[in-house]
Amino acid sequence: MQPGRYQWAAPVSVDLPAGVSLAHFLLKGRAKMKRRAFTLIELLVVIAIIAILMAILMPALKAVKEQARSISCRSNIRQLTIAWIMYKDDNDNKLVSGHTPGPGGTPAWIVMPSGAQTASAEEKKKYIMQGLLWPYVKNVGAYHCPSDKRPNNPHHQYAYRTYSIAGGMNGVNSNGGWEIMPCMRYSDIDNPATKYVFLAELDKRGYNNGSWVMNPKSRQWVDPFAIWHSRNTSTLGWADGHVGMQRWLGKGLIEWNELALHNPLAFNFYRTPAQDEELEDFEFMLKGYPYRSLLP
Ligand SMILES: [Zn+2]
Repeated sequence: MQPGRYQWAAPVSVDLPAGVSLAHFLLKGRAKMKRRAFTLIELLVVIAIIAILMAILMPALKAVKEQARSISCRSNIRQLTIAWIMYKDDNDNKLVSGHTPGPGGTPAWIVMPSGAQTASAEEKKKYIMQGLLWPYVKNVGAYHCPSDKRPNNPHHQYAYRTYSIAGGMNGVNSNGGWEIMPCMRYSDIDNPATKYVFLAELDKRGYNNGSWVMNPKSRQWVDPFAIWHSRNTSTLGWADGHVGMQRWLGKGLIEWNELALHNPLAFNFYRTPAQDEELEDFEFMLKGYPYRSLLP
């Protein structure tokens, strides 16, 4: 090759489709290359779409999670109710005591550690294992509803056991102290399928003290109960062994129960049901509240 002269490389031949010029072909190619990277706008659009999808999916996921917790709660109450039935089968038809005595007290379905308000959840679990129903359950998780909001609340941070026994099921003194003579034996229960034994209580003291009571004679609520499940529902265990969910209607009743959780100092035991949907709630619980007879 002579100095100062350059030789062009051999021309490349490209077969273009009919009617397409070389300039058009090259411009299109450049445009194609440009599209390979996301622009900021495209990225923002993708992020916005993901956010919208999350917003749609999250409530559905939350509902599925709550449904699982509600199933677990029903399973817990079922285990406890079956244990309660097995206990009377082994004890000449006598109902297990529904009280919550301290260590050394009269044996009952559970035992509470002394200083129950500030005793840790771990200590409470240990004492649950000393209760009369323990040989029939042997699962401390069965005493706690997974939707129980108390451990996350500063007023109830040491709470553990969710469920209580209804006062009329050998849970109050048999001298009529709560205006009723409680059922002491299974045969005292009038139609067991219609009387509840276990429910979720929400005692304002930060732990569920004693049994859950209402007053059929003065027609009043006494103890608040817990509404841990969606659509204002609670789980109930009935004396024949079946378990069901009850949906509460009275707005005032729901607020009264919530006050025991959020502002226990402002909460007062005893409530006369309001003359609205709450009457339906009250009649339902009154009809299912077990006792032998009212105090004369
Ligand atoms: Zn529950």
